[in-house]
Amino acid sequence: MSYLVLARKYRSRDFEALVGQEHVVKALTNALTQQRLHHAYLFTGTRGVGKTSVSRILAKALNCTGPDGTGGITAHPCGVCDACRDIDSGRFVDYVELDAASNRGVEEISQLLDQAVYKPVVGRFKVYLIDEVHMLSNTAFNAMLKTLEEPPEYLKFVLATTDPQKVPPTVLSRCLQFNLRPMAPLVVQEHLASVLAAEKIEAEPGALRLLARAARGSMRDALSLTDQAIAFGAGSLSEAGVRQMLGAVDRSHAVRLVEALAAGQGAEVIAAVDGLRSLGLSATGTLEEMAALLQQMAVLQAVPDALDESDPDAPTAARLAGLLAPDETQFLYSIVLHGRAELGLAPDEYSGLVMVLLRMLAFRPGSAGTAPQRVAAAATARPPAAAQVASQAVAAPAAAPVARPVPAVSAPVAARASAPASEPPPWLDAPYEDEAPPAPMAVREPEAARPQAASASWAPTPLGDRWADVVSQMVEAASISALVRELAMQAQCVAIDEQVQPSVWRLRVERETLRAPAQRDKLQAALSELLKRAVQLEIEAGVASDTPAQRAGAERARRQNEAEQIIHNDPLVQALMQQFKTARIVPGSVKPH
Ligand SMILES: [Zn+2]
Repeated sequence: MSYLVLARKYRSRDFEALVGQEHVVKALTNALTQQRLHHAYLFTGTRGVGKTSVSRILAKALNCTGPDGTGGITAHPCGVCDACRDIDSGRFVDYVELDAASNRGVEEISQLLDQAVYKPVVGRFKVYLIDEVHMLSNTAFNAMLKTLEEPPEYLKFVLATTDPQKVPPTVLSRCLQFNLRPMAPLVVQEHLASVLAAEKIEAEPGALRLLARAARGSMRDALSLTDQAIAFGAGSLSEAGVRQMLGAVDRSHAVRLVEALAAGQGAEVIAAVDGLRSLGLSATGTLEEMAALLQQMAVLQAVPDALDESDPDAPTAARLAGLLAPDETQFLYSIVLHGRAELGLAPDEYSGLVMVLLRMLAFRPGSAGTAPQRVAAAATARPPAAAQVASQAVAAPAAAPVARPVPAVSAPVAARASAPASEPPPWLDAPYEDEAPPAPMAVREPEAARPQAASASWAPTPLGDRWADVVSQMVEAASISALVRELAMQAQCVAIDEQVQPSVWRLRVERETLRAPAQRDKLQAALSELLKRAVQLEIEAGVASDTPAQRAGAERARRQNEAEQIIHNDPLVQALMQQFKTARIVPGSVKPH
């Protein structure tokens, strides 16, 4: 028997089972009970909140004939009559689901509208679900409008969209509109618990809390993630396993950081980031966990009674809530959220994270003017690595609140640091991108030269060779561009299974924004085309350690280093530098061939 994924197996089949959408359920059941039926419904809401499920339940409610075949329109479809069973399994001829986002959307909608003039074949009503309706062209909207204005009494439209702003007002005004809400994490968590109990799968509450939070209000995503977690954990769900799968960061790291920030301990903040890096934990994940913790603290500061006794994290959050004033908590929360968006711009995630954390230290309300001293104190506490970062931090806040992370160690900073010839700290890897450091850099001794880009954070793998090869072919053929190309460049291939049809390629991608299904689908199509066989791409969250981008960055750094060495060793250059003591080689001015 084939395994039925949880999201399909536990799709709500009646209004009672529709989780978290009580307001919609109530309105629809009342309308059905009182037979006050509208001819067009518009369901709005983000992905995975149940728009298609509501549509199917509505189709069943309208067409159910009851277990004995004598039933009429009902708010409680029986689930056993032919109509109910066929709608559930997608075989009911009078119920059509159409995805306007697909390429054939426009063509199909006109065919569908042509069919609308015919009475239902087996049911009482024809029900047309047009999903992502905002994607229809104006021509298609106009064609639909005619039918919406004078609908035959046997026809019901269900329109669904994630983006109601793009639906023309003429269409909106003819629909009864319902907004399906994103589900609260607790609602999702409770539902997952009941699903897993029914599946007889052991799960730690912490694991469910993580999954519920990662789903961001989408029950479908929550169930898909749970499927993955079951496979990952070989049948059981532990908090540690789920954390690893999601690339989530243990709460203890976030706690340590908030404690250090509250106490103004710069050295401790730097040491904590150092620890995160050595464990390979993601900077994005760290900020996400900090945001969750700060949010919990803010709630407890405003409403101390809100403490959830069953949540094992709650006592710690309550303790930390006492360390900061409510406005400070709000402020840190806002820096965390903005910092998350900024990480992608930083030369590498960890230097981005350091800057976000140092900003919190520097700009905490009430600490204006004292921050530099506090950071400087951190420098003396932990030389020399912290000294270099701290010097940058002293310089940075003066420039602008949104300080661009300072790449590598520039000369003026290095000169001020107490131990200029020491190894740069690991979070100060040279940037992957071709970015010149902001200030001219003095030519230094070879051993003090810029650190090798990414040398510590990536290791070549055979799968990485294969992936880099196909990606370069796709880039060359211009079959991928923009975000899809970025996704390919930032992905590490962790598994390829060519024994199955379609073959499965598994990618690990750290940046959450790149993991969107739309990009995945486009990359999957381009890869299938390149390999001339069907390929299924699976994308998992996690820290990638061998991506085409990392390879390209390392190669660029190697060539740059080589070029600088050649210039540095050039007898003429050396003679000039001997003669003019103030001569500088401006980095970035040296370009490899
Ligand atoms: Zn039925």
